[in-house]
Amino acid sequence: MLSGPFGVGKRTLAKLLVLCLFCENRTDAPCGKCKACRRITSGFHPNCLRLGLLPNTKSIKIDQVREILAQLSQYPLESGRRAVILEDFDLFTVPAQNALLKAIEEPDEVTVYILTATNEKSVLPTILSRCRFQRLPAWPDDLLESHLISQGFSTQTARDLVPLSGGSPGTAVRMAGNEDFWALKSRADTVLFSPADLSQIPEISEQLKEFRQEAEQLLNYLEAKALASFSAGAPEHPDPEAYYEASLKHRAMLESLFLARRQRASNVTWQGIADQLLLNILEDNQPCPW
Ligand SMILES: [Zn+2]
Repeated sequence: MLSGPFGVGKRTLAKLLVLCLFCENRTDAPCGKCKACRRITSGFHPNCLRLGLLPNTKSIKIDQVREILAQLSQYPLESGRRAVILEDFDLFTVPAQNALLKAIEEPDEVTVYILTATNEKSVLPTILSRCRFQRLPAWPDDLLESHLISQGFSTQTARDLVPLSGGSPGTAVRMAGNEDFWALKSRADTVLFSPADLSQIPEISEQLKEFRQEAEQLLNYLEAKALASFSAGAPEHPDPEAYYEASLKHRAMLESLFLARRQRASNVTWQGIADQLLLNILEDNQPCPW
C-alpha cells in the first residue's frame, strides 16, 4: 500500500513499480523502451489491471471489483507476472473492500496487488493487516520548487505555489490551473498588502466585504502566506532580534486566522470577522506583518 496526501505521487510510484516488475531490460529497469514498458505506459498490457474511480463518481463499488476479479480468473493472460493496481482504495466501499479480501490475503504466486490510499483510516483493518506499507511524505519546499520549475513553471509561479501546496506536486498543479484562485490572490494582495495605514480601514473593510463568498479560500491563502514567510526567515536571520519580533507577528497572524475560522464555524457574520482580521493585521500601526 502506497499512502500519502493527495497529489504526492502515489500513482506515479505505483506505475513505476509495475514498470520495474514487467520491464524486459533486467539491467536497466524500467527502460521505458522495451515492449512491456511501452504497453504499460500506453495502458494496454493484458497482465496489468487497474481499478479506480470512474469519471463523475465518488466511490468504487462492488460491481467494479467483481468485474476485475472475473477478469483475473477468466481472461487468458500472458505468462509471467500480473499486477493489479487498486487506486484510491480508501474510496472503495466496504463491500467492495471485503470482496477483495480473499484475493489480497492469498494472492497467487504471480500476482502483485498495489493499493494506493490518501486516508488509511478508511481502509478496513482486515485489509491493512495484509499490506506492506510505503508512506509517501510531503515534498520538501526546495525539492518541490525545483520540480515545478522542471515542469515548465516560472520561478515566481513555483515560489507562489510551494507554500500553498502542502508539499504535494499534484496540489500545486491543480492550484496553478485554478484561475479563480489567482484572481483571488491578486485581489487579496491589492486590498491587504498594498501600503495601508489606519485611516484606510473603512475603505479596506468595504473591499473585504466582497470576499464573503470566497472567505474560505481567502483564509487558506492568508494562512499559507503567513506560514511561508514564517519559515522562510528562520535560518541564519541576520538580525536575531528583528527575527524574534517578526516571528511574534507571524504567530499573532496565525492566531487571528485561527480565530476567524472559529468565528465562521459559529456563524459570526463575514463583515464582523473581516473587520477583526483587518484590525489584527493593522495592529500596532504595522501595515502588514509580512
Ligand atoms: Zn522496459
